[in-house]
Amino acid sequence: VATEYHGGLWYDGRSFVPGTRWVSGTRLLTTPPADIDERVDLYGGYVVPPYAEGHTHWLESALADAYVAEHLRAGIYYVKDHDTAPSLRARMSLGGPASVDYVAANQGFTAPEGHPFGLFAQLVSAGILSAADAADAVFAVVSEADVDRVWDAYLRGRPDFAKVFAITGNAARQGLAPDLVPYIVRRAHAAGLRVSAHIESAADFAIAVASGVDDIAHLPFVSASDPESYRLADSDVRAAGVRGMTVATTLQWLDEGEPDVRLDVTRDNIARLRAAGATLVVGTDLFRVTARREADLLARYDLLSNADLLRAWCVDTPRACLVPAGLSDFLVLGGDPLRDFAATADIRLRVKGGEVLVPGAAAFP
Ligand SMILES: [Zn+2]
Repeated sequence: VATEYHGGLWYDGRSFVPGTRWVSGTRLLTTPPADIDERVDLYGGYVVPPYAEGHTHWLESALADAYVAEHLRAGIYYVKDHDTAPSLRARMSLGGPASVDYVAANQGFTAPEGHPFGLFAQLVSAGILSAADAADAVFAVVSEADVDRVWDAYLRGRPDFAKVFAITGNAARQGLAPDLVPYIVRRAHAAGLRVSAHIESAADFAIAVASGVDDIAHLPFVSASDPESYRLADSDVRAAGVRGMTVATTLQWLDEGEPDVRLDVTRDNIARLRAAGATLVVGTDLFRVTARREADLLARYDLLSNADLLRAWCVDTPRACLVPAGLSDFLVLGGDPLRDFAATADIRLRVKGGEVLVPGAAAFP
């Protein structure tokens, strides 16, 4: 059973090349199989891999249908959740060809009363998160013995990667003791889990790099009053590049005002990370929005070229979501996104797991 797609221009990671592909089950073939059941003309459409969300939190199980439908409509098939309760994750009822592919850290590790406890308390009082889910969404640890005590329960929840909160530079939002971070990283790596670190400043970034994490969950949240505390050190940037680390963008705070010195420092951090060989992934860290918003923000401030942004969104970010390459998942766009990035929103056809996908109508409230 195979379907032929002809008349399209296929993205090869750099440019679009005319060609024909065949979908057989979950495989995308470049040579025709013996039996072809159906032939589909793509009428000159631009074919790209689906987009991904590299940093989110799906904490609202009552809105699971809306989360799935909004993301599929936006062409986002893969989602990386950086902290959630395992019970809540199970209630999202994810998976299967008609849904998103979702990976999650489950509970993150932080200090007692550290970030994100304050945020979760706000979400509980706003009625967004139940007290029970909030209590199961993060581990508070101050010692290796504390980590050992919760470790088996943590692994039983089957996390896809591990999350540590490494914050030192902000008295109001503390995270793990810096000397505890490498211990959690070692235990996670021994369990086959990659590790992502929440950071806020250049000092946090340095701790995360020195601790051996694989992924940084944020670019520094640059403060206009003290921008130099958020400019990454060259040695940390080099180490991130040498180790092929990924860094999620999460620049929603740039949206809050006019471009200023915060944008200059961010532009410099991005340029040096990319030059060193680190990989940027597109992530929002926001509720009830999709990574479309983050991609638009990166385009609007010209932080990445169209070519680099497209590659970040449909190649590097899916990879960071642990999606295997060569899947029969793709989008057909009505225009060339290398010429005009807005074409990434002009989605004419969605194929997932070899099947044409029609997203549901559910929407965020
Ligand atoms: Zn987050």
